[in-house]
Amino acid sequence: MALIVQKFGGTSVGSTEKIKNVAKRVLRSQQQGRQMVVVLSAMSGQTDKLISMAAEMQPLPDLREMDMLLATGEQVTVALFAMAVKAAGSDAVSLLGDQVRILTEARHTKARIREIDTELIRKHLDAGKVVVVAGFQGVTEDGDITTLGRGGSDTTAVALAAALKADSCEIYTDVEGVYTTDPNICAQARKIDMITYDEMLELASLGAKVLEIRSVGLAKRYSVPLHVRSTFSENEGTWVVEEDRIMESMLVSGITYSRKEARITIKGVPDQPGVASKIFQPISNAGIMVDMIIQNTREGQLTDITFTVLRADYLRTMDILKQTAAVVGAESVTGDESIAKISIVGVGMRNHSGIASTMFQVMANEGINIMMIATSEIKVSCIIAEKYTELAVRSLHAAFALDKTKPPVEE
Ligand code: ADP
Ligand code: ASP
Ligand code: MG
Repeated sequence: MALIVQKFGGTSVGSTEKIKNVAKRVLRSQQQGRQMVVVLSAMSGQTDKLISMAAEMQPLPDLREMDMLLATGEQVTVALFAMAVKAAGSDAVSLLGDQVRILTEARHTKARIREIDTELIRKHLDAGKVVVVAGFQGVTEDGDITTLGRGGSDTTAVALAAALKADSCEIYTDVEGVYTTDPNICAQARKIDMITYDEMLELASLGAKVLEIRSVGLAKRYSVPLHVRSTFSENEGTWVVEEDRIMESMLVSGITYSRKEARITIKGVPDQPGVASKIFQPISNAGIMVDMIIQNTREGQLTDITFTVLRADYLRTMDILKQTAAVVGAESVTGDESIAKISIVGVGMRNHSGIASTMFQVMANEGINIMMIATSEIKVSCIIAEKYTELAVRSLHAAFALDKTKPPVEE
C-alpha cells in the first residue's frame, strides 16, 4: 500500500474550519487506498506570537524554555486535527516529536535531526489510523524538547518521508507551488512544473521561503520526490526532482529577494597578510555567519572590506567589529541595514554567458545602484537598497521573460 507524507503549513491550518477541511482532504487520500502520515505547522501567526510573549519575559529568552514554548503551537493543531478526523468517522492519532522519537542535537531553536524511530508510526498506520505528527520539533537524548528553526515543519515532513521510505512527500501551502518569483510581490510570477533539487536549494537559500532550505537538502540526499502544492485547490503543483528527470532546463528559472541581511564596511584597513583573519575570526567565534565579502584595494597600503550578515546579527557584529577596528588600526566602521539581496537562479547558466550582464543592465535601466555582487555556478546575486526590492524583482522577471514558458535551451 502506498505511503504518503502530507505537510500542511500555518495558513492551511489557520482556523478550526480550515483544520476540518484539511482533515477531509487527507481522508479522501486515505480512501484511495493510501497510508497517511500528516505533518502540521502551528496556526499562522502563532509561532510569532509565542516569540513576542517570550521577549516580554526575558530580553534574550533562555533557549531551552523557548523550545518548550514554541513546541506548543504544533501541539494545538495536531490534537484538533485528530479530533476532526474522528468526528468524520475515521481514526487518527496525534504524536509530538518526543513521542515519535524524532531525536535531535541539543542545539535549542536550531536543532538538526539525527534519527527518527518509525516503529510507533508504523504500528498506528497498520491499525488503519491517520498518523498526525507535530512539525518543527524533536527531543534530545536527555529528553529536552527542541525545535528545528523557522519553517522547520517542512524538514520534519521530508525527514519522516525519508525514514518511512514514503512514496512521496506533499508540501501543502497557500500558493499553487514554486513560482518564478514570489507571487505575492509579482503578479506575473508563473508556476514552475518541475525544478531540480539544486535550483530549489539556491532559491530557498536566497529567500524563497516556500520550502525551508534544510528540507530540500534532505530531499536531495535521500531522493525524496517533493510535490509543493496548494491546500486550497486540486491543481498539480511543482515537483522538485533530480536534474536528469527534467527535459527543459531554463536559463533562469527563478528570482528571489531577501530583506534579512545587513551590510557592514570596515574602512582603511592595513593591506597585509593576516588582516582578514583578524577581522573575521572574532565574528565567527561569536557564531555569526558572514555571507558576501568584497575587498577593495585602494592606492597605497590600505584596503576597505565590505560584507553582509543577517540583520538579526547586525548590532552584535558592529560591536565586535568596532573592537577589531581599534586592534588593527582601521579608519572606521559603517553599516547599512536597509539593503536587499536580489538573485537570479538557473541551471542553464552553467553553459551560457551574458546572464549576469543582462541583470546588471536591467538594474542600470531602472537607476538602481548595485552595491555588491556574488556569483556561483547557477546564481547571480546583487545587493541593492531595500526600497528598490519590488522594482528590481519585477523588472528582472520581465527582462528574462519568466512569465512565458520558453522552449528548452540547448545544452
Ligand atoms: P507555509 O506556512 O505553508 O509553510 P510559507 O509562508 O512558509 O508557507 O511559504 C509560502 C510563501 O512563500 C508564499 O505565500 C509566498 O509568498 C512565499 N514565496 C516566496 N518566494 C516564492 C516562490 N518562488 N514561489 C512560491 N512562493 C514563494
Ligand atoms: N511553526 C513554525 C514556524 O512558524 C514551523 C513551521 O511552520 O514550519 O516557523
Ligand atoms: Mg513554511
